[in-house]
Formats: sequence, structure tokens, C-alpha cells
Amino acid sequence: MTLKGTKTLVVGMAKSGVASVELLVKQGAEVRATDLNPVSPEVSRQLKELHASFALQAPEVFGFADLIVLSPGVPTDLEPLEAARKRGATVMGEVELASYFLEGPIVGITGSNGKTTTTALAGHILRESGIPVQVGGNIGTPVTAMIDSSRPEQWNVLELSSFQLETICRFRAQIAVALNVTPDHLDRHHTFENYAAAKGRLFETQQAGDSAVLNADDPVCVGYAALTRATPVWFSSTKAVSAGVSLRDGNLWFDGERLMPAAEIPIRGRHNVENTMAATAACRIAGASLEQIAAAVRTFHAVEHRLEFVRNLSGVDFYNDSKATNVDATLKALDAFAGGLWVILGGKDKGSDYTVLRQPLTQKARGAMLIGAAAAKIRGQIEGSVPLYDSKTIDVALRDAYAAAEKGDTVLLAPACASFDQFDNYEHRGRVFKTLVAQLEPKK
Ligand code: ADP
Repeated sequence: MTLKGTKTLVVGMAKSGVASVELLVKQGAEVRATDLNPVSPEVSRQLKELHASFALQAPEVFGFADLIVLSPGVPTDLEPLEAARKRGATVMGEVELASYFLEGPIVGITGSNGKTTTTALAGHILRESGIPVQVGGNIGTPVTAMIDSSRPEQWNVLELSSFQLETICRFRAQIAVALNVTPDHLDRHHTFENYAAAKGRLFETQQAGDSAVLNADDPVCVGYAALTRATPVWFSSTKAVSAGVSLRDGNLWFDGERLMPAAEIPIRGRHNVENTMAATAACRIAGASLEQIAAAVRTFHAVEHRLEFVRNLSGVDFYNDSKATNVDATLKALDAFAGGLWVILGGKDKGSDYTVLRQPLTQKARGAMLIGAAAAKIRGQIEGSVPLYDSKTIDVALRDAYAAAEKGDTVLLAPACASFDQFDNYEHRGRVFKTLVAQLEPKK
């Protein structure tokens, strides 16, 4: 694609928008940028350096462009975009734009849950196996910012959201992975079918000879096999599959070959066994041996804030699962431990039903410390399941939990709530928790 002199508008000025502007300017396009909100001084400075002008988003801003590049957050059915398409302008997403320039084969990973973990793990396995790789997409570095460092013989392992996939045409993953598809982002995609179809684009653009790594236990993922020209490779935590990875008798198998005992996977929980199976399948296809994969899995550390082991002090383990911003994620976290838990719950309520936590709390936990704006609601819904502490803030919650915990117990931050009542975001909440844990003194 030649972009020299092409009048281009980039919509949305977060990380991938700015990276798109940079790429387009480098390619010689005439670039303007827009966003619904004014940009930060830092972004304003970057745009000035790139000689890209900025205007707040309004219908007339779109009239200039022959090519419109959308950040993942921007709905594709905006009125001015429809009008632009009608007059012959091309509208594409950031990932699609990158596909014209990115060198090297692609492992594309999508799903409602587990994308970041599986992407990080697949990148780790390839790296440890001596296979050249770079990792990016939704997980961090925008795909348009990976182009300069891309090489024909180097894999690009990409975390891809439904927003990034919705409009792809040319973008193609030689290995595409679908972890699971459960209702999410329905505010943007309107229906579950649209959401599933957006993720399905990843499989529709594949070609014969490519591979589709699919969860055999998820009906939507199974459906993707019919959309793709790629060869399906399955994974399942409930049944034997071929070709693919399964969990049988406590071991992971790739077809007839044993990979490793599931108990040796250092990231906790059944969901992480599934993520490991998906990463295993993708990396096996990309050229790693089963021995290399098993060795690399054993040295993988959880991605920060996702059931992340923090430390052991006086026989008490501390885990940070600040990413558990909804009840479902907290259920997964509770499921990952045998018992002896002191759970820190609460934050900003998202209209959730916490009563489903009662039974697993009774089974696994010795107490729950309640914090934040949702504390009273949570107390009302789980009262009677385990002893509850009105800790209010995370520092008091940690102090209460550590004081109550005995040798062999685990203090788990898995709040089931958003963080915005007391923190900037879940990362901030997790970092504060870890700092507080680091400051604890051994028990006398
Ligand atoms: P994503 O990037 O898709 O949000 P993460 O790897 O950040 O996924 O995991 C986010 C949360 O999703 C985890 O804390 C866990 O509760 C849940 N999760 C992770 N993997 C899976 C899976 N394979 N199936 C179901 N839930 C999962």
C-alpha cells in the first residue's frame, strides 16, 4: 500500500492511535488526528513533532480524509464513517493498517477471558525455545509500533480484542487462537452474535495451510472451525481431542504424547490450564518441541495482577488478583485454591450479584475483608457465609487478614469489583496491595 500524500484521519488518540499517526507520517501520508476529548499535553507534543494536526471529533473533521484509521475504542458504525464510506473513503482499524507493513508470521490470540495470560505465555515459550518472537497488540505495544522491529523470520504474538478484529480484511494470522467466547462488550457490539462474529473475523481471513487453535469445550469456538480455511487444532480440559491438547488423568497431552502434569503449571486454576493448553498448541505449531514447551511453562510467572504470587511471610501466602474486577473472575480465583483463604472483596459495584460467592467462600475461605463503596451491598448478600470484616480500605483489610491468618493460609486480593472508587484503575490497586504486602513484618 502506498500512502504517500494520502489524506488520512486517525480517530482516537490513545496508544494505538498515536502509533498509527507515527506509522502514517513515516509512510508519507498527510495526517490529521481527532478524538472526542482534548488530548493530554504529552500527546499534543507528540502530534506536533509529527506535524499532524488535531481537531476535536465532529462530523466535518471526517470530510477531509480518503483513509480513516480507527482506534479499537471507536465504534465502526458512527454516522460520519458511514458517510465517508459512501463517498469512497477507506475505513480500517489499526491492526488492519499494520498488516500491510508487519513482517513475519503471526500468532493471533483472542477470547473473552485469558488473552493477556495466553499471549504472555506463548511469547515466553517461543522466546525460551530460541524461536525469534515479539509480543504486542492489546497486551501493550500497539501492532503499528511493532513494525520497525519486525523481521520475516520472527513471530509476532498478538493479543487481539473483538474491537480490533471486527473490521479486518487483509490481516491474517498463520496461527489463530480462540480461548472462549462469553457475553462481553454488548454495549458496543449490540448482540452476542455480532460479538462472536467480530472475533470470528480472525478465522475468516486465514488461508489453507494456516492453523486455528480452538477450545473444543466452547460452542462458539467450535463454530469457528466451519468459518476458516485453516486446519483446526483443538484443546479441551474435559475430553480427548485430536489433533490437539487435552487434560487427562491430571496430565496435559498433545495427541498421544505426554507434555507434563497439570500440577506443574505454575499459574493457578483450571482456567490457566486451559490457557496453557492453548499456548502449547500454538507454540507446537510454531516449531517449539514438547520438551521445550514444558520447560518454558514451568518457568512462567503470572502476568502482574492476575493471580500473581506476591510473597510468603510467616507461612502466609499473598496473592494479587486485582484484575478480578467482576464476580466471575473472583469465582475463578477462589476455585484455584484448596482452602484457607482470607479474601479481600469490594470496590466499585458494577450492579453485580455477589450471592454466587456464598458457597465457594464457605468452602474455601476463613473470612472476607470488605472494602470500598460496594462493602455494604456485598455484606448484605454474603452475610452468614464466612466471618466478615468491615475493613473499609485496603491497608486495613490487609492488616486484618494478616492478623487473622495462620501458617498455611493465603491472603487473596480478588475484589469482584472495579477499583475506581478508591484507585485510578486495577493496576494501581494491585500495586498498592503489593507495596503494603512488602511492608509487612514477620509474625512474632
Ligand atoms: P484478558 O486479557 O482476556 O482480559 P487475562 O489473562 O487478563 O485475560 O485474565 C483476566 C481474568 O480472566 C483472569 O483474572 C481470570 O479470572 C479470567 N480468565 C483467564 N483465563 C481464563 C479462561 N481461559 N477462561 C475463563 N476465564 C479466564
